[in-house]
Amino acid sequence: SSVINLHEAPKERVQDFLDSFDTVLTDCDGVLWIENNAIPGAADTINYLRKLGKRIFYVTNNSTKIRSDFAAKAQQLGFIASSEEILSTAYLVAHYLKGIGFTKKVYLLGSNGIGEELKAVGIRHIGVGPDHVKPDFKSMHPSDLDPEVGAVVVGFDEHVSYPKFMKAASYLASEECLFVATNTDERFPKAESIVVPGTGTLVRAVETCSERKALVLGKPHEYVRKFLESCGLNPARTLMIGDRCNTDIELGVRCGFQTLLVLTGVTSPNELEKIRNEKKPPLPDVVLPKLGDLLSLVSS
Ligand code: PLP
Ligand code: CA
Repeated sequence: SSVINLHEAPKERVQDFLDSFDTVLTDCDGVLWIENNAIPGAADTINYLRKLGKRIFYVTNNSTKIRSDFAAKAQQLGFIASSEEILSTAYLVAHYLKGIGFTKKVYLLGSNGIGEELKAVGIRHIGVGPDHVKPDFKSMHPSDLDPEVGAVVVGFDEHVSYPKFMKAASYLASEECLFVATNTDERFPKAESIVVPGTGTLVRAVETCSERKALVLGKPHEYVRKFLESCGLNPARTLMIGDRCNTDIELGVRCGFQTLLVLTGVTSPNELEKIRNEKKPPLPDVVLPKLGDLLSLVSS
């Protein structure tokens, strides 16, 4: 296959690779950290790339935090980072709705992170909080619906519930109601042998009961692609780093970026083997067991 194992390549090849990009877009969970634990060597590598003069952007499908909280988390784990370098899906939702001049209320099946990003652009929302248990499905009444709601937004929501699905689908029964989702990740990485259902699980549920399709903003979809293209990057000299082929690498391929897959997150070595053998796109240009290997390869 044409995927290059960079850790088996000669040192000059690694140096050529480092010289071949000046902007780095990096996924977060599964590349830099897993939950609250930094992946060894990742911070030193990102900080080294910055020292070489590369522009760094953190591109995450995680919708649960505002940008400054992501920056704070990154800093705490040893990464040099600022809010302006964070591109998260909660921010994308606010950016999108503001961009189309949305003035109604959002019914949010999601977390406070989206709520705060919406507030920051002056968009009202309901849905976060005690809304997840009441009223139960037998006592739901049209008066429980807010006539000011003009959009349903679905993001990650650990308090997802039947009443929430009922409300979301009821708002979406009106054709004018917009239907926006942050991302469709099937699962999230966790160190132990536990499967964490991703936001895609919730998006598909609401799509099913509303009989509609959501506009999905995050990786690898159109909106984040256009957003990145509007940032004035030179695609040929941009590197996308990810741990998932169907989000990160797919986005990179669609944008014409170079792509680096690391095996510390969702896509396992076995899955990569399968993808390689079947030549099933999207294939990364380069693969490394972990991001930190990039630094060890040039400094050894
Ligand atoms: N959304 C949520 C709620 C998550 O917890 C995670 C990973 O932990 C993600 C999305 C995926 O984030 P990323 O795109 O940084 O891998
Ligand atoms: Ca990831």
